[in-house]
Amino acid sequence: MDMQVSFLDRLFDAGLLIETGVDGLYGRSGQFEDVIAAFERLIDRVGGGDGAEAMRFPPGMNREFFETSGYMKSFPQLAGTVHSFCGSELDHMSLLKCMEVGDDWTAGQEATDIVLTPAACYPLYPTVARRGKISAKGALYDLQSYCFRHEPSKDPARQQLFRMREYVCMGTQQHVTDFRQSWMDRGVEMMKSVGLDVTIDIANDPFFGRAGKMMANNQRDQNLKFELLIPITSTANPTACMSFNYHQDAFGTKWGLNLEDGSVAHTACVGFGLERIALALFHTHGLDVKAWPQEVRATLWG
Ligand code: ATP
Ligand code: ZN
Ligand code: MG
Repeated sequence: MDMQVSFLDRLFDAGLLIETGVDGLYGRSGQFEDVIAAFERLIDRVGGGDGAEAMRFPPGMNREFFETSGYMKSFPQLAGTVHSFCGSELDHMSLLKCMEVGDDWTAGQEATDIVLTPAACYPLYPTVARRGKISAKGALYDLQSYCFRHEPSKDPARQQLFRMREYVCMGTQQHVTDFRQSWMDRGVEMMKSVGLDVTIDIANDPFFGRAGKMMANNQRDQNLKFELLIPITSTANPTACMSFNYHQDAFGTKWGLNLEDGSVAHTACVGFGLERIALALFHTHGLDVKAWPQEVRATLWG
């Protein structure tokens, strides 16, 4: 029998994560949030000179934009929709009756105009498209959002509601692939500066079904996705704490993102998994922040 206390249980015991009764849905302590805030300030210091335009969207997005994005084609298993009660008083009576006897009361809920944001950059593309042509010099955006993915797990690094900080670059192929490379280099340096063990590897998204297998293979063959990995729950299988995605002109075509010369914009995004980075720090340096190495504390808190 495995008597080892899991990392998740140790996080609960230390009060860093707070149980809700749902796998992958946790509260965070002030200490946990303070680590995320400090790491975000480090991101600001590293990326702050690039002149990115900051935008913050709520964790829900326009359902129409979500439909256009094609998310349901690629990742139907991960999506979360927001449904509400839209009925009459009579419907309300039967709803309450239904709940009372323990039947499925959610069947009558109706889709609203909102779906949960699956990645921080999804609300950005239609927003930029609405503004008209993108400068020949390219465009750079700074985003952060809670994201939802229906992937319940006992692994504390796989949550259903988590925060993603992203930089998104739009421009020529050269411009956005340079952007992606520079953040791969910066990401490695940043993680080293807080004492984390990193590797970078090629990766793919979990495209659904048999057709998805081919899309995943294609993504790998074309080097479209890289991940920065850090050990959290396993040293043999380290966890993706950052990802570096080159979309070619797929989003540019889909959303009508054009450069001043009329060409379709290429796009790339770099995402930091903020909870995962905090968990990597707790895993590596211990659950007591006061006992972390002095250099790490200095980098994070000055
Ligand atoms: P994984 O392969 O572990 O599922 P991913 O490829 O789905 O990760 P991305 O879609 O690239 O991840 O999302 C960007 C970043 O968001 C990831 O690098 C990771 O740090 C973080 N992230 C993704 N899914 C989760 C999750 N379920 N819980 C916490 N953080 C996550
Ligand atoms: Zn993105
Ligand atoms: Mg995933």
